Amino acid sequence: MSEANQRIVFVDIPKGMPGPESFRLEPAPRSEPAEGEIRVRAILFSLDPYMRGRMTGRKTYVAPFEPGHPLAGYGIGQVVDSRAAGFSPGDLVVSPALKFQSASTGPARGFAKIATREFPLSYHVGVLGMPGLTAYVGLLDIGGPKSGESVFVSAAASTVGALVGQIAKLKGCRVAGSVGSEAKRRYCVDELGFDDCLDYRAAERLDQAVAQVCPGGIDVYFENVGGPLLDAVLKYINVGARIALCGMISQYNLERPEPIYNLIALLAKRACIQGFIITDHEQRRPAFLADMTAWLRAGKIRYREKVFEGFESVPEAFRSMLSGGHLGKTIVRVAADPD
Ligand code: NDP
Repeated sequence: MSEANQRIVFVDIPKGMPGPESFRLEPAPRSEPAEGEIRVRAILFSLDPYMRGRMTGRKTYVAPFEPGHPLAGYGIGQVVDSRAAGFSPGDLVVSPALKFQSASTGPARGFAKIATREFPLSYHVGVLGMPGLTAYVGLLDIGGPKSGESVFVSAAASTVGALVGQIAKLKGCRVAGSVGSEAKRRYCVDELGFDDCLDYRAAERLDQAVAQVCPGGIDVYFENVGGPLLDAVLKYINVGARIALCGMISQYNLERPEPIYNLIALLAKRACIQGFIITDHEQRRPAFLADMTAWLRAGKIRYREKVFEGFESVPEAFRSMLSGGHLGKTIVRVAADPD
């Protein structure tokens, strides 16, 4: 991995799946910290599906990436220079808005110190970070599953999906999910303890495949995918079902969203669908961290990562993340963990 100060710049709004032309690797300018700022050497970055939504030029719940400016997202680094109270060189920090740059300078309030090395550093942008909190809040607070109920989660082998399924099992639910390959199906059933799982790419009819893996219907649907899968699931929700609308990744690269035909099921089944954005639920972080660290220590939660090496890997890593090309949380490592 190169020692030069580099950065990955967003080039322009892509049509469909972002390709290598959407990103540019270039030398990064150096800036010294002003009062209240710290300078941070990057160690690793998280790639997350919401970043595709920042490449549309439109503001949604988060500002769009600006062409010619570096990508930014969840990342971990080490403080190398500080002019901010409470931060010293050597501190390990996590930020939701770290520039994809070897070293960058910014206000200290945009960083949180990582207090423990009990778990790998990368866990703080994964199972112990934003995706973990998303699974926890989305399932428990929005979905509200009760022991014995039937939970279905789409993108079940994704970072969020795999945690949703495992937490639902810990809460005594019957759990099924959908994934895009036989290897991921086996992972969910054999390693994560799902009761059943379907491969949507292999299914001749999605609705029949959903019915097969959820013979008692669905009480809680944790929605990560949208499109035809949501339509299929709507046919099998039970009376009083809750749908936690977390994401719709099947739609992110489309110019036009696909239609949903079966919304009337919400009426017939007196069901509820609720979208949520995890940054609105920061108050749940302490409870989440207490539960998740206990589950990890007890070996009750399994977690996988796929690590890509160096800034050069960002285009490939991004494509692979969005298309389901690998199993595990997508991490781009640009420097080794400090001792
Ligand atoms: P990951 O990057 O870990 O995994 C994404 C997975 O989505 C892929 O591996 C792929 O799995 C699946 N996928 C991609 N395209 C399709 C498609 N066309 N149809 C079905 N599945 C597809 O994702 P995360 O776990 O980080 O995120 C999961 C969802 O949660 C996303 O929709 C994301 O936007 C959302 N999210 C929402 C948050 C919120 O605040 N509301 C916060 C964090 C995440 P496969 O091979 O099985 O197709």
